[in-house]
Amino acid sequence: MIIARTRDDLNQTLQKFTQKPGKLALIPTMGNLHSGHLSLVRLAKLNAKKTITTIFVNPLQFGKNEDFEKYPRSEEIDINKLRKEKCDILFIPINRHEVFPKFEEVKKIESGKLGNELCGKIRPGHFDGVLTVVNKIFDMIKPDIAIFGAKDYQQQILISEMSKILHPYLTILKAPIIRSKNGVALSSRNNYLSEKEMNLASNLFKCLENSVKLYNDNVLLNEIIENAQKFLISKKLNPDYFELRDNKLNNINENHFNGKKSFFKFCYIK
Ligand code: AMP
Repeated sequence: MIIARTRDDLNQTLQKFTQKPGKLALIPTMGNLHSGHLSLVRLAKLNAKKTITTIFVNPLQFGKNEDFEKYPRSEEIDINKLRKEKCDILFIPINRHEVFPKFEEVKKIESGKLGNELCGKIRPGHFDGVLTVVNKIFDMIKPDIAIFGAKDYQQQILISEMSKILHPYLTILKAPIIRSKNGVALSSRNNYLSEKEMNLASNLFKCLENSVKLYNDNVLLNEIIENAQKFLISKKLNPDYFELRDNKLNNINENHFNGKKSFFKFCYIK
C-alpha cells in the first residue's frame, strides 16, 4: 500500500495509478477504522481495480462544542488494517493544509433544507462541512467510484445529491450498516461508551426493529412514534428525534402511508 502524506505525494501516486487500466474507488473516512469501514474497502475491491482510502478528521464538520480534539485517532493500527485489506493507496494528510491549502479559497458547499433537518438540526453546519470536504476530496482524487455507508444515511443522500450536480460521472455506491452482535451500529465514537452504555444502546436497535414490525402491521404512524418514545424513555434514553421518513428522507404522513416502502431514521447523540 502506498501512503501519501502530502498533496504532492498524492498527485504523484495518482499519476502512476491512472496509467494503469481499471477503475479507481475511493473510501473517505476519519480513521479509527473498524469492520464497518473495512466492509467499504471490500466493496470497493469488488467494484474497482484500484482502491484509495482517505483518513482525514475534517475540522469543518465539527461544531464548536463537539469532539474534534478528542476524536479517536489510531494511525498505525489503521494502516495495518488497510494493508491487510490490500487497499492500494492511503491518503492521510500530515495536516489540514494538505486538504485546504492556506492560499486557496475553500469552495463551501451548502447542504440546503435537508442538511438542516434530523441530525442537521442538532448539529448546525455539520453537513455543510461534510459536503465541503467530500467535494474537495473528489476534486483532488477524481475517483470513478466513491463508497459511503448507510450508517450515515442522511450524509449518503446529501452526498449523492451533490454528486449528481458537481460530479456527474462519479458513481456513488451505498454500503449497508455493519452492526455489533447486540445491534448497535459500529462507530468510531462507540469508543466513548462504557460496557454498560453499549448494552443500553442496544435498546435503540430493539426500538427500530419493533417500530418496523408495527409499520409492517399497518399500525398508525403516531402510535408507532408514541410507542417508540415510551419504550426509549422507559430505558432512560432521551432521543434527539424520532421521525418516520421515506427512503429519500422526505416527510411522510398518514395520507402517504399506503403500505409503501418507508423506514425509520433514528439518531441519538448525547
Ligand atoms: P467515518 O470515519 O465515521 O467518517 O466513516 C467513514 C465511512 O464509513 C462513512 O461512509 C460511514 O458511513 C462508513 N461507516 C462507518 N461506520 C459504518 C458501519 N457501522 N457500517 C457501514 N458503514 C460505516
